[in-house]
This record gives sequence, C-alpha cells and structure tokens, in this order.
Amino acid sequence: MIITKLYGSMVFDDKTMQEWLPKEIYREMKRCIANDLPLDLDTANVIANAMKEWAVDKGVTHFTHWFQPLTGITAEKHDSFITPAKGGGVLMEFNGKELIKGEPDASSFPSGGLRATFEARGYTAWDPTSPAFIKDGILCIPTAFCSYNGESLDKKTPLLRSMEVLNKEGLRLLKLFGRKTERLSAVVGPEQEYFLVDTSAFEKRKDLFFTGRTLFGARPTKGQELNDHYFGAIKPRVVAYMKELDEELWKLGILAKTKHNEVAPAQHELAPIYTTANVAVDQNQLTMETMKKVAAKHGMTCLLHEKPFEYLNGSGKHNNWSLQTNFGHNLFNPGKSPEDNAQFLLMLAAVIAAVDTHQDLLRISVASASNDHRLGANEAPPAIISMYLGEELTGILQAIADGRTYSKRAKCDVQIGVHVLPTFAMDSADRNRTSPFAFTGNKFEFRMPGASQTIADVNVVLNTIMAEQFRLFADELEKAEDFNEGIAKIIKRVMNEHGRILFNGNNYSKDWENEANRRGLLNLRTTIDALEHLCDDKNVKFFKDMGVFTEVELRSRQETSVEKYCKEVSLEATTMLDIAQKDIVPAALIYKKDISTSALNALQAGIPAEVEVALATRIEALIKTANQAIDNLRTELEAAHKFGLGFEGGKHYVNKVIPAMDSLRAICDELEFNVAKSYWPMPNYSDVLFSVH
Ligand code: ADP
Ligand code: MG
Repeated sequence: MIITKLYGSMVFDDKTMQEWLPKEIYREMKRCIANDLPLDLDTANVIANAMKEWAVDKGVTHFTHWFQPLTGITAEKHDSFITPAKGGGVLMEFNGKELIKGEPDASSFPSGGLRATFEARGYTAWDPTSPAFIKDGILCIPTAFCSYNGESLDKKTPLLRSMEVLNKEGLRLLKLFGRKTERLSAVVGPEQEYFLVDTSAFEKRKDLFFTGRTLFGARPTKGQELNDHYFGAIKPRVVAYMKELDEELWKLGILAKTKHNEVAPAQHELAPIYTTANVAVDQNQLTMETMKKVAAKHGMTCLLHEKPFEYLNGSGKHNNWSLQTNFGHNLFNPGKSPEDNAQFLLMLAAVIAAVDTHQDLLRISVASASNDHRLGANEAPPAIISMYLGEELTGILQAIADGRTYSKRAKCDVQIGVHVLPTFAMDSADRNRTSPFAFTGNKFEFRMPGASQTIADVNVVLNTIMAEQFRLFADELEKAEDFNEGIAKIIKRVMNEHGRILFNGNNYSKDWENEANRRGLLNLRTTIDALEHLCDDKNVKFFKDMGVFTEVELRSRQETSVEKYCKEVSLEATTMLDIAQKDIVPAALIYKKDISTSALNALQAGIPAEVEVALATRIEALIKTANQAIDNLRTELEAAHKFGLGFEGGKHYVNKVIPAMDSLRAICDELEFNVAKSYWPMPNYSDVLFSVH
C-alpha cells in the first residue's frame, strides 16, 4: 500500500471523522472538544455508530476502552459489538453510552488504597481529544480511568487536568501580551531507545526473561568501546524490523520519523514527530507495545528496560517538550519582534523558576527501580536536576537581572520590549549532551525519563509547574503599572532566586555533584529517596491548588510507586537466587568435578596436573564465596519481605538487598570468567549482544 494511504488507516482521526460523520455532528463534536463540554447522548450515539461502521468495514468485531492504570502500562477489556437480533441472528451494535463510559472490574489494578475493597468498581470515560484506533482487530477507545468518587486511578486524568490548568493560566499571561490565543497546549516528542536481541538467546537467559535485564554477566570481549555502532550500518534483519515497525506505527497515525543505531551494540532509537501531550503519551504507549509485537514476528525480542546490560549504555526516553498556541506559535521560539523577545525571555524565566522550585517533582516523575541503574551512571544525567540554556541565553538573562546591557559579541544591548534579541546560534555543536534538562533551540529536552516509563508522569509535572509560574506571573503583571518594567522585574527576581538551577557544564563530573551540593540543589539518589518527598506539604498544597491531584490521589500514587519498587527488586533478587543456586553453582561444581577427575587421572598416570589442581582449587573457593553470597541475599530478602511493601521495606531493599545482589553478581561474574564456556548454563553477554546478524 502506498504510504499516504497507509498513514492513519487504523485511526478514527479528524479526516476519517469528516468522512463518516454527518456535518452537524462533526461540528458539534469539535465544539464540545474545544470548549471542554460533555457530548449529549444523541450526538454520542451517532458518533458511536459511525465509529462502529468504520471499524466493521475493516473486519473489527470487538471494542475496548483502552486506559492507563497506575501500573504504567495499558489495559483493555474486550467486548463484542454483537447483539442478538429480534427473530434470530445477530446485529453489530455500539451506542453512545458504551462509547462514553465503561465499567471494567477495577479490583485488580493498583489504587494505593484509594478504592476500598467493597467498592471495587471504577469507570472509564472517553477522552475524545485522543483518537480511537484499531489494534489487533479491536476498536480501542482511549479513556480515563476513575473511581466512583471521581478520584483518578490512572495516568491520563491528571495529564488532562495539567493541560487544562496550563491552558487557563497560559492564556491569562498571553492576553497581557495582546495575543488572541484561544488554546495553549503542551506538545511532546519522545525519543525512544531500545535493544533488539534474538529471541532464542533471550529465552535462554532467565534473568532477561523474568526481569527484563541481565542480573549476571561478565564484561563482554567487545562492548561499545570502539563506538562503531552509533549511526553505523543497520543490519538487514533490523532494517526489515524497522520497516515493518514504521508501517505499523503509520497505520496508527504515529509519525515515526527518525531511526538509527545507538551507542551500544544492539541498541537503537526511534523518534516520532511531536504532537499534543496527551496524544503523545498514548502514542508512546502504543509505540512500545508495537515495538515488542513486531520484534516477535521477526524472531527478536525488544528490550525496553532502562539497563538491560551492565557495562553498556542503558536506554532512556528524551521527552522533548514545548508550548504551542492554536495558531502554531511555539512559545519557546525567540521570534522576530521586540514583543516576541520579551515574551520569550519571560517564558524562559518561567521554566527556570518552575524547574528550580520543583526539582523534587521532576526527579520523582522519573523514579523507578530500573531507572536507578541508569541515572548517574556516566551515560545519563545524574539524579540532580539542573538546566542548560547555553552561554548566550544565560548571559542575556543575567544581564537583565544585573541591569546591565548585554554585550558578549557587542551585537546589541538587550532591553526588554525595545530591541530584538541577538540571533543566537543554537546549532548542535552548542549543545550540552550531559544536561538533564536542556534547551535545544525551541524546545526543552528532559533526558531523565527511562525507556520503559510512561511519559505521562513527567508531562503532568512539566505542565503543572509551568502553569504555576504562569499564574504567579499573570497575577503580578496584571497589576504592573509598566508592563515591560514588570517583566524585567520578574526576570530579575527569577534569576536571583532560581538562577542556581542553571548549569552549562559537564553534568557527569564529580565536581558538579559537589558544586550542586554547594548550591543547595537536591540530590535524591534512589527511587525511595525521591518518593519520600512526593507527599511533602509543599507538593500536596501545590497539586491541590493547581487542581491536578487531591491529597488522597497523591498519597495513593506514592503508595503504589513504593510498592512497585519493592516488588520489582524482590523479583530480581528471587530470580538471582534461583539462577545462582540452580544453574550457576551446579554448573561450576560439575566443571570442578571434571577438572578434579582429570587431575586425578593424570596424577595416577604419573603426569603432572598442577594447572588442574590450581583451577579446581580456585573454582572451589569461588563457589564457597558464592554460596555465602546466596545465603546472605536470602536472609536480606526474607527480612525485606517482613518489612512489607512500604518505605520500611523499600529502604531495606536499597540498603541491604541491592548490595547483597551486587555481591552475588560480582562473585558469579568471576566464576563466569573461570568456568569453561561449554559448562556455563546460559549465553554470555557477547552471545546475546551479537545474536542478531
Ligand atoms: P534532536 O536531534 O535535537 O534530539 P530531533 O529533531 O531529532 O531533535 O527531535 C527529537 C524529537 O523532538 C522529535 O520527536 C521531534 O518531533 C521533537 N521536537 C522537535 N521540535 C519540537 C518542539 N518544538 N516541541 C516538542 N517536541 C519537538
Ligand atoms: Mg534528542
């Protein structure tokens, strides 16, 4: 099929709606969406019917309300369109009620105690701003998922609320600039990293199979030292995979655009063209799902874990984020007139104040057991939040704050609202690749999210912290006697109070950690350290004031996240014990026995056997240490289980279980070095990393 035909063929998008909906219904739907009004049932009935007709035309028999519970992945429950017809036979039916609201049994989804067990039901509500689509022959309706009391049980509801408040406060501010903007939206383009390995190798690694990452594995002979993978030629099997993946994504209306190899062997990246935040979140979930599905068809397994392999780069997901008006104007574009510049500088000030004030929330939004392995590992930003603007923009803002004229290149002086900004060169050479939050020309790139994470959480935080600054700025500027002076005053205050968050240097260096500490920036090293701050008074008040989370909702999220952390580490520890006890130690014992036998035979025949004896002795010593490490891990894991799935348990995992896992791994990797390959019970790193030819 030609690409233009293929694109969006499985989406009930705007174009399809115009084709399938009566004109007045289409118009009514657009009006309701634009004004956040509920659809009346008659209109919903017509839309549901058109959706069904369109889907049935493509062979679809079932529909589902597709939602994103707190697990961070997606959920669906399928119902068929089939209804018994009077006088026998069946009809294919789908009505407005079914479109707008669903009632999945919510009891098996995490709620952090939000939903009392006697009220296990939640409901799903259609999000008409994200288009319905067909996946695996099923019509999927994107929905939000709430409890009967209206508390959010999902990732989407707070995102929609954050977009609402951002729009509201943003419009207030833009109005002061005389803009006629009707809608302000956050737009997002996530760059998704992933690994591809051959499924036969994957299945022979219990650790990869059960936990998504290797829990053992000696350093491979060849890693990423030669830097020959990045942008290198893509292997034919991978080319075929990428082609099919692109096509599947295009059908779903996802504009997969760039694809290339990444730094580590077997690592790749895919980036779509950016779109409205809630659609981008939905699309990224679909992208991850499609990546795995298409890989399976090619005999490969797609790994989205943040750190599948030690010694190699992990996988992240850069969240490119900017703010756009309904006229397509990007607020992070400097623009050409003095008014544009003033607005642009004020936007930068808003981001600086927002990021500094809520460093903790940004850190928390990317916290997970798996991402802990990546952050600060000299390949990804540290756990410290800072912001990169580049020397020139930093200089301009500082000059305004100091009441000086800006004259780095003696190009011009900057006075808000009077002069045009110097055109600053934002070429890629200028970029800082180590910054967790970098301005890259006309957008901010948040680089801390992990590859497997939903990007809902980070965008909820970004939108809400920005909305707060817009609110504060608008409050102030609405009262200002002189508008431009008011702006200069805000910039000055922001630079004085929050300028510490700006850092243009190397974020991977040890010096920065010390410097950040001196500046009083937060360094929340682990997920547990970070999550402990989620329900600080400041955050409860903030989210409540902004209308994004109630206190109960926030607490439920804290609880489910800690629980998830504990469960994930527990699963890893359990898997390690299983592999070490049942596979690694037995394999090493057999190897030792065989060497000992051959030593014995040699000695009986009067042949020297020094090497065998030395090797068998070394292996014996290693096995003994491994056994101790196994016992130690088991003891710590049992203790963790006793502490439960809250912070007490979480801390025990951080302080005791993970170090015990590290020790066990170290000794087993040492064994791997010493035991003959033919005896080793699983494929080694090289086997897995170079399994796709
Ligand atoms: P880079 O090379 O700087 O990472 P790319 O052009 O490869 O940039 O884009 C990376 C991602 O950023 C893509 O998903 C792209 O759609 C997205 N992106 C580009 N411009 C914007 C913007 N103004 N707002 C949000 N995302 C954007
Ligand atoms: Mg990038």
